[in-house]
Formats: sequence, C-alpha cells, structure tokens
Amino acid sequence: MPSLLRAIRSVRKAESLRPEQIRELQDRRLRKLLKHAFEKSRFYQRHYRAHGITRRDLDSIQPEQIPVIDKNVMMANYDDLITDPALTRAHLERFIDDSPTPGSKYKNRYSVVHTSGSSGTIGLFVYAPHEWQIGKALSLRVTGVKLPLLRRKRIAFIAATDGHFASVSSFYNLPRVLFRRLPLSISSPIEEIREQINTFKPDVISGYASGLNLLAEEQLAGHIDIAPTEAYCTGDPLTANFRQRIEKAFGTNPCNMYGSSETMTLAGECHAHHQLHLFDDWFSVQVVDDALLPARQGKAIITNLYNFTQPLIRYQMNDEIVLGEDRCPCGSPFPVIENIAGRHEEFLWFDRQDEGKDFIHPIVLAEFFVPGLEKFQFVQKSSNRLLMKAIPSSGNSDITPAIREKMHAILSKKSLQNSVRFNVETVEQIPNDPRSGKFKLIVPLSTT
Ligand SMILES: [Zn+2]
Repeated sequence: MPSLLRAIRSVRKAESLRPEQIRELQDRRLRKLLKHAFEKSRFYQRHYRAHGITRRDLDSIQPEQIPVIDKNVMMANYDDLITDPALTRAHLERFIDDSPTPGSKYKNRYSVVHTSGSSGTIGLFVYAPHEWQIGKALSLRVTGVKLPLLRRKRIAFIAATDGHFASVSSFYNLPRVLFRRLPLSISSPIEEIREQINTFKPDVISGYASGLNLLAEEQLAGHIDIAPTEAYCTGDPLTANFRQRIEKAFGTNPCNMYGSSETMTLAGECHAHHQLHLFDDWFSVQVVDDALLPARQGKAIITNLYNFTQPLIRYQMNDEIVLGEDRCPCGSPFPVIENIAGRHEEFLWFDRQDEGKDFIHPIVLAEFFVPGLEKFQFVQKSSNRLLMKAIPSSGNSDITPAIREKMHAILSKKSLQNSVRFNVETVEQIPNDPRSGKFKLIVPLSTT
C-alpha cells in the first residue's frame, strides 16, 4: 500500500502541470529509459548500434530518429530485450500455463500479462512491483478515487476473468482496503451472471464495454435489478449505441478507458466531458501514417516510460488512433484522443444442445494461449462449427492436443462442448483479409 500511495501521489502531481511541463517530464523520463535500455538490454544495444546510435546520442536524439519495433521483433528477441536476467520467455510461458490464477505473480514478484490483441501474434509483458504500482495508479486516475474512502466501494467486473490478461490482472490488484470485488466471467452462462450481480449489488460496474452493454440489456429486460452510480469500460470499443444503452439502464454515463498489455491504462475519459485523455506523462506517443510520418490519424507508436524491466521503446501498436485538435474543456493538461479504431471483433454465437444460444466473447479468443503457439485465427464455419488456423513457433510442432484441450474448457463453460465441433488446422501462414488488407483475428459466420 505505501508504494501504491506514493505512485498515486506522483501520478496526481502531474495532473496540475502545464502541457509544456509535462513534455519536459516526458523527455526526462525518455532519456532515463533509453540509457537504461542501452546499458541493460542486449537487444536495444545491438539494435541501436546497428542504426548508428551511440550512447552519447541518447541525450539529444529526437524520438522520431529512434528506430521503431513491433510485437514480432520484440517476441523474436525476447530474452535479449528483457533487462532482468531472471526472466526468460520459456519460463514466463510455463508460468502462464501452470498458474492460471489471475493476479498471481511470477516468483511472487513480477506481474505477467499476455495477449494476442487484434494482431493474432501472442505477446508477453512483464512488470516489476514498483512498475505495476504506477500502472495501477494510472487506472485509479480515471476512477478519480479520493483517499481515504468513507467506506469500501463494491465493484463488479465483467470480462474474461480466468487468466493473466491486462484488465483482469489490474482488477484483482485493486486494493482490498478500497474495494469489495466481484469478478464476473463473460464465459459463464448468462443465468449465473444474473444471479451473482443481483446478490452483490455493485456501486461500480466495470469491464468490457460489450460486457456492460450486456448488463444494460439485462437490466432493461428486467432480468437484473442493480443501481450502480459509476461505470467504467475497457477492453473493447465503447460504441455510441453501447453508451446510450448503459446510460438508459443505469442513469450513469460510462467513462471509457483505453489500455493494452503493453501500457496498462494509456488513456481515460474525464467525468466532466467524457473525452479520452492520453496520459503522456508516463507514455510518449507518436501517431504516424503508413510512411511513418507524423499524422493526426494513424498507427500509434508508443514508449512506455515506466517499464524498465521490459522496455518498449518506439513500439508500433496495431490500433489506429485519431488525435483531437483541442484540449479538453475540463482543463486537463493531457492531449485528447478523438477516436480509436482497430479493435472491433464480433461475438460468435453458437447453438446449444437445449435449443438455446450462447456466445463466445471475442476477447476470450484474442487471449487464447498455449505454450508454443505463435499466431492464430478463428473462423466460424457454421452455428456449430469453429476452426482455428494455428502457426506454431519454431520447434513446437505438436501443439494441437493442447489447443483442443484449452478450447474444450472454453466451450464447456458455456455448455457448448457437445454442440460445437472444433477443428485445428496447423498452417505456415495466415493471409490478410482481402477486403481490408488487414489481419482478421476472428472471421465470423456472416463474412465466411
Ligand atoms: Zn476532460
């Protein structure tokens, strides 16, 4: 707790700075990270030297002159990129596989999260304890929690809750002195979700935007009766439709949060104007077009300024960001993100044996993990057939049984294991969607 309080205090302090002061702070943090990476990461030292960058350049180099990396480069050089010799890709993969309890720490110390995001390539991310506290403080920045609380808040969280995913890991790490927590698995049958949330009566609802939308539909249909006063969305896009339905059902306009395994909370909406503030005190973000030139709309290149264990410097994300032209009228010094694209995946609906239907949430599929699996795509073939195209990482040819076992567990939670036939096809390549030219993690029935 003391170190979380310190992190909260330092995060709060930046909120009263002027934009130019934040840029100075960001620049100081960037130089410190660059020097650390050059000294401690074999990958960065090699990579920067190959681009003609010496240690002396690190005091003056402009961010745009620093070479860009992405998830593939990071994963291919994982053990060399990490600055802590106690951590290796093989050990972390085994840890994730052996210990599915969310929030549990590797070696009782490190927070580990993984995701394929929308790119289909699995990425691993590790945070040392003090780094994780800053991540937590940034998510509490969005909730505007004022300490001390008069009483603990009751917070329900609806998402994929049974693995080392960024959002559930931060939920489980919410301090117990501040919150009573109810995790609701989006993979549970809907009847179970209803019963749990009705009994719990949350003050705050949080989780995937599509999950909160589901709760709103349930409330409007009279299946649940709860009265939360705050709502926070994360993980998938908060569409205008979802926002309207949530507000209609609960009388509160949800605050959207935007984050990733690479960053944890990168941006969050203010309660005053519901504009998404980009937390550029702890992140350096450049938005670029296809030629990597600065733009208002395009791919985000991020540097996480607090993760020294696994430095992500000028790392290209898959999401497209549109930056706002003005700052938020609330007076926040942070720049505004107008829109985020690139995360929209659809629910896959399947027939149950009892003639009902149930869905598999896209993020449950995006966070699919077995050791030795490098990249994958899900294709829905019919209302009772699902196919996975799988690319194993080198030297891992026989991962099909592990994939089947994992998928069986996912289907079983929704009682779909007997009605849905699941096939795995091992492939060498997965072509991009011919229409958009982009990789599609999930190909739903409507487009196959
Ligand atoms: Zn604002």
